[in-house]
Amino acid sequence: MKQDKQDCKIVQDLLPNYIENLTYDETNEYIRNHIAKCPKCAKVLNNMDAEIEIEPLNQDKEIKYLKGIRKRVKRTIAVVSLVIIITASCIIGYFYNKSKIQVNNYTFLRASYIKKNQEDAIDGNLYGTMIAVFDENKICKSVRVVEEGYKSENVQKQYNLINEFIDCYTNVMSIDNKLHYNTNYWNGQTKERIQNDWTENYIIIKLDEI
Ligand SMILES: [Zn+2]
Repeated sequence: MKQDKQDCKIVQDLLPNYIENLTYDETNEYIRNHIAKCPKCAKVLNNMDAEIEIEPLNQDKEIKYLKGIRKRVKRTIAVVSLVIIITASCIIGYFYNKSKIQVNNYTFLRASYIKKNQEDAIDGNLYGTMIAVFDENKICKSVRVVEEGYKSENVQKQYNLINEFIDCYTNVMSIDNKLHYNTNYWNGQTKERIQNDWTENYIIIKLDEI
């Protein structure tokens, strides 16, 4: 009995190395022989095996937990990105619409016309285009005119003439034998009034709203 107890002590001392496969074959045989007839040591070995199996289980849990965190982080990044994209779209859309509304407040009336029997003109005709700018109340703010067909020697003469009427004509320019200028004659008038005025006093080729 005393010998058995001694054996138990030795076997249990060796068991940690035995389960890690660090013991010699002869030692293993000795341990197995003892365990076969000693339920106490068999139980100790069983408990050790169980403990070893628990560890990888815990590792699995940890990996699952970490994977879970990674998933949650990915999901959070996706949601945050989506929110940022939507917010940015809204802000861009807001300013885009705002600028569009401001531009859309203005309307334009365009007329192409001919002035016949003009001495200064190459073929006796001057060809012009007028664009009137109206605000949201359809009140004229300015009219830009481009006239062409002048003989090149007469463009400067006409330019000087128009430039003298500084109250009526502004921003006068001579570009490639064409005269560009603003006329203030219709400023403050309604669209209907200007449309009538133009059709009565000009030979209109084309009149449209743009
Ligand atoms: Zn034993």
